[in-house]
Amino acid sequence: MARVVLVTGGSRGIGAAVCRLAARDGWDVAVAYREREAAAERVAEDVRAYGRRAITIRCDITDPRAVCAAFDRAAEELGYVEALVSNAGVIHKAAPLACIPIEEIRRIIETDLLAHIICNREAVRRMARSRGGRGGVIVNISSMATELKGAGGFVPYAAAKAGIDLLTEGLGKEVASEGIRVNGVRPGLIDTDMQLDTGVPERIQRFGPTVPLGRAGRPEEVAEAVVWLLSDKASYVAATIFNVSGAR
Ligand code: NDP
Repeated sequence: MARVVLVTGGSRGIGAAVCRLAARDGWDVAVAYREREAAAERVAEDVRAYGRRAITIRCDITDPRAVCAAFDRAAEELGYVEALVSNAGVIHKAAPLACIPIEEIRRIIETDLLAHIICNREAVRRMARSRGGRGGVIVNISSMATELKGAGGFVPYAAAKAGIDLLTEGLGKEVASEGIRVNGVRPGLIDTDMQLDTGVPERIQRFGPTVPLGRAGRPEEVAEAVVWLLSDKASYVAATIFNVSGAR
């Protein structure tokens, strides 16, 4: 039996690239998505083209019941869920904090922090050896915004992502003895649909050349780091966060 990974936000961008490369590396994949069912189904087809099994699961990560149901369905249909890639995320339009509506701040914190804590919690409840699990691995997708501190338009997003970093390091230490490795990846400027949601016109074209490596990154370049962390090659890597940012 192949090993099973659940990827939140697997329908597009970095999550979709993780699903494809995980399949390449031998994982069966539960492709979770919020609303773009057709896009998720295309990713699942790509997984199957690698000879692996795939299912798509509608799962808004801000709904704890939907998160539980996603884990349960993945386990029922694919088998023991050994890995979680907690990737789904949203961003707000670039603006000074004083100008960002409270509802928008709440949406960012709920999606980019609280929901990740809940997804990690549900993973640990199923993977922990003391709870009958067989151990596993979690990769949390953070952001270089935590290093750049988000000043100049992205303070709520950076604050949420900083929480993810602490979740990764704290939980990673807490559950290492349960056979669970928790690690994180901080992408830099990556060419995905998320850039459109910042409201900054041509963000990739404008800021790509300012990255020390001279360009924005591709989703696959982030996904390679993620699937390495999932793999047994990373068997002694725990409670650690990688920057994948072209030295940005
Ligand atoms: P995209 O906007 O391309 O894709 C976002 C994904 O998240 C989609 O699959 C979307 O599902 C899903 N999603 C959004 N909200 C929810 C929700 N409430 N519940 C479940 N799924 C949801 O983003 P990226 O691929 O660029 O980003 C992936 C991760 O990488 C995010 O955590 C982001 O913060 C992080 N990141 C991205 C960077 C970049 O430059 N692109 C830089 C640093 C970090 P659907 O398709 O159904 O809407």
